[in-house]
Amino acid sequence: MKVKVQIVIEYDELEEPLTEEVACLCRGDLLPETLGLTLEEGKDLLANLQAKMVKHQAVEYVAQQRSCPLCGEPRGNKDQQEIVWRSLFGKLRILSPRLYTCSCQPQKKKSFSPLATRLPERTAPELLYLQTKWASLMSYGLTVGILADVLPMQTNTQTVAVKTQAVAEKMEGELDEEQIMFAHGCPAEWEALPMPDGRLTVGLDGGYVHARDGDNRKAGWFEVIVGKSVTYEGDAKCFGFVHDYDEKPKSRLYEVLKSQGLQMNQDITFLSDGGDTVRDLQFYISPWSEHVLDWFHVTMRLTVMRNTAKSLPDHDDLQNVPEILARVKWYLWHGNVFRALQLLHFIEMDLEIFEIENEVARKLLKAVQAFGGYIEVNRNFIPNYGERYRYGETISTAFVESTVNWVVSKRMVKKQQMRWTKKGAHLLLQARTKTLNGELRDTFCHWYPSMVSTVENLPLAV
Ligand SMILES: [Zn+2]
Repeated sequence: MKVKVQIVIEYDELEEPLTEEVACLCRGDLLPETLGLTLEEGKDLLANLQAKMVKHQAVEYVAQQRSCPLCGEPRGNKDQQEIVWRSLFGKLRILSPRLYTCSCQPQKKKSFSPLATRLPERTAPELLYLQTKWASLMSYGLTVGILADVLPMQTNTQTVAVKTQAVAEKMEGELDEEQIMFAHGCPAEWEALPMPDGRLTVGLDGGYVHARDGDNRKAGWFEVIVGKSVTYEGDAKCFGFVHDYDEKPKSRLYEVLKSQGLQMNQDITFLSDGGDTVRDLQFYISPWSEHVLDWFHVTMRLTVMRNTAKSLPDHDDLQNVPEILARVKWYLWHGNVFRALQLLHFIEMDLEIFEIENEVARKLLKAVQAFGGYIEVNRNFIPNYGERYRYGETISTAFVESTVNWVVSKRMVKKQQMRWTKKGAHLLLQARTKTLNGELRDTFCHWYPSMVSTVENLPLAV
């Protein structure tokens, strides 16, 4: 049998509809592989349908532009060009006539191309969307391969990379200007606000990405900050940026919190490792926020010191060091920074005596001094962890760890040879977090209002 697929086009101005054939499919014996459409036939069918549809839409649009909107006189044909339009269903060459401008008004140009003016981007938003979405989740190479597998189109990694960056740059352009202070209003206004739904918990952590610097094989690494914000109901959103590249980290964080319903009387808990980068970021976002030093980072450093202390020389003055370190931990767990620092100071004094003759003592002394400084700098962010823990409150940024993996590792450091420029990594992070948060489709619908937002857009963030 033969199956013909035709389309019927009804122009408003034409009485008779036009009919055109888009496919003719022949079938013999029924076999599992010949029942219905094959992948190739499906792709051909879509490509042909797209080509015909686009052609007719273009013809209609140009016809509508033929008469001058001011005086109604027809605008003469100058010549005809072709524009290339990249869509999900193929790369199309569309005839684009150039028309003379009308002389009823003074004009800057003698002629213009209605279609070229109407389609300045030359790429279908639908294609841009899908390309960005996939490229943010997998490598550019895989994206190119999968697009070609399921759709009648070909592209290359270079194009996908450039377009994905362009989309991310557009998103960046819409981010509000950076401010030192995002909290606004006064206490009386905050009191008058309705009760927020509950506490927001924000964890900040860092990851590292291989740097690319021309042919320099020793370009090293740079730091990427990743965060996760969780509402009282457990809805999570993630964000990320390249430290010392991003000029609007606060604005970025504020944007995420705002999308989760942040209001000025909101309780927010920020948890971080206490590094300078993240410490500055969390301030002045909301007046009612609290800042907690991540317990995990505290214990990790103490564990390393206790292990080192096991190799100290056998001497009466040093045998108590591991036990004192255990007490330091106990005091910190209960938020007693004063006692913890005091004990650290005692250890320092003991170690100083052995510093010159013993390498372990010297090493441990350095670590204890550094740790003391760390606790000192972050003393305002050290709560009574034990109490928080008993009340089921978060004390560690461990809940961000999987997000760091999601946002950074899986896409950006899986292969050792993958190297990034700060700009490239930063922009990809923006596309990636938008996709993971399930916001990419909405962003496109905001840019292109006639794009329908019915596509399933579940957040992927964990
Ligand atoms: Zn005119």
